[in-house]
Amino acid sequence: MMVRIGTLFSDVIEQCGGVVEGAVKVISGGPMMGFAQWTLDVPVIKGTSGILVLSQEEYVSSDEYSACIRCGSCLDVCPMGLNPSQLSILSEKGFFEETKDYNLFDCFECGSCAYVCPAKRPMVQFMRLAKSQVKP
Ligand code: SF4
Ligand code: SF4
Repeated sequence: MMVRIGTLFSDVIEQCGGVVEGAVKVISGGPMMGFAQWTLDVPVIKGTSGILVLSQEEYVSSDEYSACIRCGSCLDVCPMGLNPSQLSILSEKGFFEETKDYNLFDCFECGSCAYVCPAKRPMVQFMRLAKSQVKP
């Protein structure tokens, strides 16, 4: 769809047939880099690449993740050659300064590590948290 900047999410979704029964989450953007929305009364802005409405089956709660099992899958897919596992653990434990030793700021939050993680760890959120706590 092409919509005017400023159009409310609620109006866009309504135009598409409305929120279907069982929808549990709305994301501004794509499934890997998007941001969850807490209301539909937000406008489309220049950077709005899409709006996702997820069903219960499609939604993985960030409360349901578990400890890193060191499978290494995230290292295999990181396009920047980072160690997402280590970065997520340091951020989770509050060792934010130490993340700089693992090139935290090379992470561009693509979400590939989160996508493959069998422990469903919220990797991008860990990266963003650490970035918010340290200066480059
Ligand atoms: S989100 Fe960051 S750490 Fe994870 S795969 Fe992408 S660039 Fe690598
Ligand atoms: S993919 Fe998940 S479980 Fe596997 S090493 Fe990375 S963070 Fe740990």
